[in-house]
Amino acid sequence: MATIYTEDILIEKAKTSKINDVDFNNLSFGSTYTDHMFVCDYENGKWQTPKIMPYQPISLDPSSKIFHYGQSIFEGMKAYKDAAGDVFLFRPLDNFNRMNISAKRLAMPEMPEAYFINGLKTLLKIEKDWIPTAEGSALYIRPFMFATGKGFHASPADAYKLVIAFAPSGPYFSGKVNVLIEEKYSRSANGGVGFAKAGGNYAGQFYPTQLAKDKGYQQVIWTDDNTHEYIEEAGAMNIFVRINDTLLTVPTSDRILDGITRKSILTIAEAEGIKTEVRKIKATELVEAAENGSLKEMFGAGTAAVVSPISGFGYKGKDFELPELENTFGQFLKKKITDIQTNKSEDPFGWRVKV
Ligand SMILES: *Cc1c(COP(=O)(O)O)cnc(C)c1O
Repeated sequence: MATIYTEDILIEKAKTSKINDVDFNNLSFGSTYTDHMFVCDYENGKWQTPKIMPYQPISLDPSSKIFHYGQSIFEGMKAYKDAAGDVFLFRPLDNFNRMNISAKRLAMPEMPEAYFINGLKTLLKIEKDWIPTAEGSALYIRPFMFATGKGFHASPADAYKLVIAFAPSGPYFSGKVNVLIEEKYSRSANGGVGFAKAGGNYAGQFYPTQLAKDKGYQQVIWTDDNTHEYIEEAGAMNIFVRINDTLLTVPTSDRILDGITRKSILTIAEAEGIKTEVRKIKATELVEAAENGSLKEMFGAGTAAVVSPISGFGYKGKDFELPELENTFGQFLKKKITDIQTNKSEDPFGWRVKV
């Protein structure tokens, strides 16, 4: 489909800024929003003129298909500001490409790179002062697209809205989590939408995660939908396991999200001489490794937390604790990746993009 677009963006500035109401020393994650948002509508078979406008509520017809059939996708990325005030994105084209992979799977229109990347960069320039600089902080970027087209019939909508909104955020989470290896529920299935950042994937995770919380765990380790024998993801993050001095993660598939943090960690680990393996991992292998002392670390990896360490896991009614190590691969790799993101180190892989 030929998409006709111009790179021009209509910009409507907010009359006043909310920035002075924000305590930048006490930012939680993703709950404070900046003054403006980027909006682009897809109507009549094409993307319309993109706009930047004051951050505001969106009004929708009750028959909009997002409410009924859940055509909704999103991305999560971050912008960083260094000591000199320069602004950087981290591998933004990967997020853009993944958003279009998600769009395709949900029968939603793919968006042109110029709209997404130029829109994002233009909005970042306007909201530059909102980018926090404290350790572990960043401007969280949430691009999302949903069906605005009307009708109660179950078919793809004929209209969509793409929005990019910003949330200045402090560190995502700092403590270790105790996780439950799930044996009944699945996050995703063969041939399903697990590889897409589709809103419904997360809705389906909440209930099993609540049940795990009731049992005293903070998070669920998802297993394959067929046998529940192989670990797949850590909540909404990719999973890493260290057995002796080898760092392992599982191969991506149509059930597993192809995380940018995951692949960056693998690349950095290899460059740093850490032995890595990408292969299937059985829950029973973790149990054996925990029992014989070779299981050293487990952590989740994703943009929000970067690395989220796991203190122990439950499986088939038994609990296993991980050792308290002085120098973990998790901490080491988190520092390496955030130093690249925040322009504190060289960028040997060419991942940083100056805005
Ligand atoms: C977003 C996400 C990840 C992490 O992806 P990043 O690109 O590293 O942020 C992993 N798993 C799931 C299910 C996700 O939604």
